[in-house]
Amino acid sequence: KNCIIAIDGYSSCGKSTIAKALAKRLNFIYVDSGAMYRATTLYFLRNGIDWHNHDAVVEALEKVHIELHLENDQTQVLLNNEDISQEIRQMPVSLSVSKVSAIKEVRKAMVALQQKMGKTKNIVMDGRDIGTTVFPNAQLKIFMTAEPLIRAERRYKELAANGETITVREVLDNLKDRDHADTTREESPLRKAEDAIILDNSHISPEQQLEFVENLYMN
Ligand code: C5P
Repeated sequence: KNCIIAIDGYSSCGKSTIAKALAKRLNFIYVDSGAMYRATTLYFLRNGIDWHNHDAVVEALEKVHIELHLENDQTQVLLNNEDISQEIRQMPVSLSVSKVSAIKEVRKAMVALQQKMGKTKNIVMDGRDIGTTVFPNAQLKIFMTAEPLIRAERRYKELAANGETITVREVLDNLKDRDHADTTREESPLRKAEDAIILDNSHISPEQQLEFVENLYMN
């Protein structure tokens, strides 16, 4: 049977860094579930979809086709065959994604797609509800956390390096807003699965994190 490793946690905790490194080490496929919610959000924004309108949401979801590929260690995200990998990381999407991902129909569609990806292959998937809802039987579950200001500074550096004009404060506010929205939404909110192991990476290096998680997997 194929193996699933679920990595959940708060926004910008470095989930993707560790998930990617672990997948590489174990020769598993890395799947960024957040990228799917971001791609859907971009589609909604571009097409002016009123996400309070149930029928409009259902109709729009039928037109959203998402593909994920790993290219040179980066997740390439295709929305209806267009490469939107950069655009989904920018502020307009970050500001709306938690609202879009709270919609029941959106979650249903994304969860179905994620479960399909995990059916036959060994994967490491990161997100918010992977260990609780998408793969409750995952062989290994990690719940990641870090101090908010440390997370904001890490994310700020990434965004600034990509030429975005933004302040640490704005990034911090966005992280806090998303954490609040993600933990309080009705539909599979962000929470630690009972059998998940907590990893607080505020003060440890990516190498130490990888070693920690790899040891858990081996034992
Ligand atoms: O992982 P990332 O920060 O890119 O995810 C963006 C947003 O997508 C999260 O803040 C959350 O609102 C949503 N998300 C989710 N469930 C997942 C992954 C992401 O609701 N499994």
